[in-house]
Amino acid sequence: MTKPLSNMQQRDVEAVLHPYTDAMKLRTTGAHMITRAEGVRVFDDRGRGYIEGMAGLWCSGLGFSDRELIEAAKEQLDKLPYYHLFGGRSHEPGMELAEKIKEIAPGNMARVIFQSSGSEANDTQIKLAWYYNNAIGRPQKKKIISRMKAYHGVTIASASLTGLPPNHRDFDLPIDRILHTASPHYWKEASDGESEAEFLARLVKELEDMIEREGPDTIAAFIAEPVMGAGGVIVPPEGYFPAIQAVLDRHDILMIDDEVITGFGRTGNWFGAQTMGMQPTSVSMAKQLTGSYVPLSAVAMNRDMAEAIEENSGRIGTFGHGFTYGGHPLGCAVGLKALEIYERRNIVGHVRDVTPTFHRLLREAGQHPLVGEARMCGLMGCIEVAPEGRKGFEKPGAVGTRLMEELVARGSIFRSLGDVLAVCPPMIISEAELEELFAPMHEALDVTYNWAR
Ligand code: PLP
Repeated sequence: MTKPLSNMQQRDVEAVLHPYTDAMKLRTTGAHMITRAEGVRVFDDRGRGYIEGMAGLWCSGLGFSDRELIEAAKEQLDKLPYYHLFGGRSHEPGMELAEKIKEIAPGNMARVIFQSSGSEANDTQIKLAWYYNNAIGRPQKKKIISRMKAYHGVTIASASLTGLPPNHRDFDLPIDRILHTASPHYWKEASDGESEAEFLARLVKELEDMIEREGPDTIAAFIAEPVMGAGGVIVPPEGYFPAIQAVLDRHDILMIDDEVITGFGRTGNWFGAQTMGMQPTSVSMAKQLTGSYVPLSAVAMNRDMAEAIEENSGRIGTFGHGFTYGGHPLGCAVGLKALEIYERRNIVGHVRDVTPTFHRLLREAGQHPLVGEARMCGLMGCIEVAPEGRKGFEKPGAVGTRLMEELVARGSIFRSLGDVLAVCPPMIISEAELEELFAPMHEALDVTYNWAR
């Protein structure tokens, strides 16, 4: 028997269409109403507290009650609550944040353009790649190579980059000029007996073959998350990005680095590109850019691209792109404060300090017979549930969802991505809080294991 919905839950299901939700199921279960938050914890309408092991959506790196971020927002609202960067106007927080991003971004970045979301950043990346190639007289060089299991957003173009079936199904996506090469997930994708080095060599060859088949003159860019997030926390094999980079360099293909999750300390360096040895020509950032207190995203691009784009705007008379809220002063002020905090409190150092505990806890969970693989990089990780000795359940998702529910019922928020249980806590989490987050794991695994048999 399901419990009747509370008044709030009833109002909610009758008013909100929820993203990434089975709306029919929600009609009977109701949504979990979150009312307030403190540090790494959130509280629901019944007053129950939970450790937020996903930092919301991989995004609240500084937790949920940072006074400095809140004060920075208030000050900016008092001073200049809105202005834009269109048509020759600017404002100080926008200018300063762009300067700061240039200083810390991987590669040698020369210009920054702002949006509000990660999807808009990656949409902008596609447009920049197209505009750039038109500007330098290569109008055929337009296709973008993404990867299966990638997550780059949900606008029409960024959802096309995303390599996950539910983002395409019944949305008539992907659009043309977007290609997907293999995901670099050794445990799942390698053939029987294939070593990790052989797997990597095969991935590189598949990419090279795709480029040759399509024609190198038609390929503008390759886009990648340093560590795939929503596709299942997939950490590529050692040497993956340098090997890919060599192929891209040979064919004059841009490397777009999607740091929407991995940026600002998550992997134990300022950017995932540094952890993974990537050499981006442009970088997408969002989420932890403002600790997610205010929506803001940015694309940083190298000098070659920036100059070609600026010169083309001179020829046309304008650069015809930009969002009303791109570079909102509130987001920029909070972003500046977040970057200051990351530096002053040495958040990268803290991530490195607590990472061994986090990885130990994931490996311990990985020993359970319900777990096929535990994966991790810095403070992002997952366990993937699987039938013993095999790589996937016949009915994908049910066991992962059940495990997530068992954990949430015990006060620990993890997120099931099908049968992958992801964990990506606020970067400020302490070792004791990590232990608390994982404390119900074995019991939840046992209960789920018995349920699944
Ligand atoms: N890129 C990556 C790597 C992401 O993880 C996400 C969101 O999770 C996006 C892009 C899209 O960002 P948004 O949801 O802000 O549009």
